[in-house]
Amino acid sequence: IFVRTPIIAGNWKMNMNPSETAEFVKAVKDNLPSADSVESVIAAPAVDLPALLENAKGSELKVAAENCYFEDKGAFTGETSPKVLKDMGVDYVIIGHSERRDYFHETDEDINKKAHAIFQNGLLPIICCGESLETREAGEAEEWVSRQVKAALKGLSANQVGQLVIAYEPIWAIGTGKTASADQAEEICAVIRKTVASLYDQTVADKVRIQYGGSVKPANVKELMAKEDIDGGLVGGASLVPESFLQLVHFKD
Ligand code: PEP
Repeated sequence: IFVRTPIIAGNWKMNMNPSETAEFVKAVKDNLPSADSVESVIAAPAVDLPALLENAKGSELKVAAENCYFEDKGAFTGETSPKVLKDMGVDYVIIGHSERRDYFHETDEDINKKAHAIFQNGLLPIICCGESLETREAGEAEEWVSRQVKAALKGLSANQVGQLVIAYEPIWAIGTGKTASADQAEEICAVIRKTVASLYDQTVADKVRIQYGGSVKPANVKELMAKEDIDGGLVGGASLVPESFLQLVHFKD
């Protein structure tokens, strides 16, 4: 059986400035687990990435962007190129976060184009998916998430899919303090792995790392991480404080 390295990623959203970024990294950098044991990632706004990268140098911390465009360069005012992110030394790019889908009208097609552009530039995507409360209450969560995953992965090779990360984030659990129960989270993460197996094969599905996101905190991380198909967490609020980020990445201790 394939052993997947757990991956805990903080998603700072639009909350930190470069000096706060530098302070945060200084506070955590010497206390992170080895990346072979648990990968520690911080996703920051593009303007904070230089401070994040510079301070994380030589540490176990990996760096993610919170978004990118799907073209390498050109007349796309205000956008961030995956080619430039790669030049800077970024490792991952979050795409398809529900806030980007809802507030910035990112479509499944955009997310798929971004996934291709990210791989073409030697980066790895963290692809977010997840249903609204309305969809869950209609009994359509599995179908909804499976459709989002299929749309995002369209045209990617088995080799690419084996390296990427999928984050299952039920919208009703994001920033609400309402965590999906470990069983609810596991149920959909298992559906995601089955969807990947149906599109590719079981070997590829066994390699994909699936994160749960939605009010993950030190108090619930262990229970979530114990589930078979949950390989990590994508964490908003609890990733903004060095002490709680450290507790999350040390969930094994
Ligand atoms: C997120 O937005 O990725 C998230 C899961 O936020 P929170 O942990 O604050 O619910």
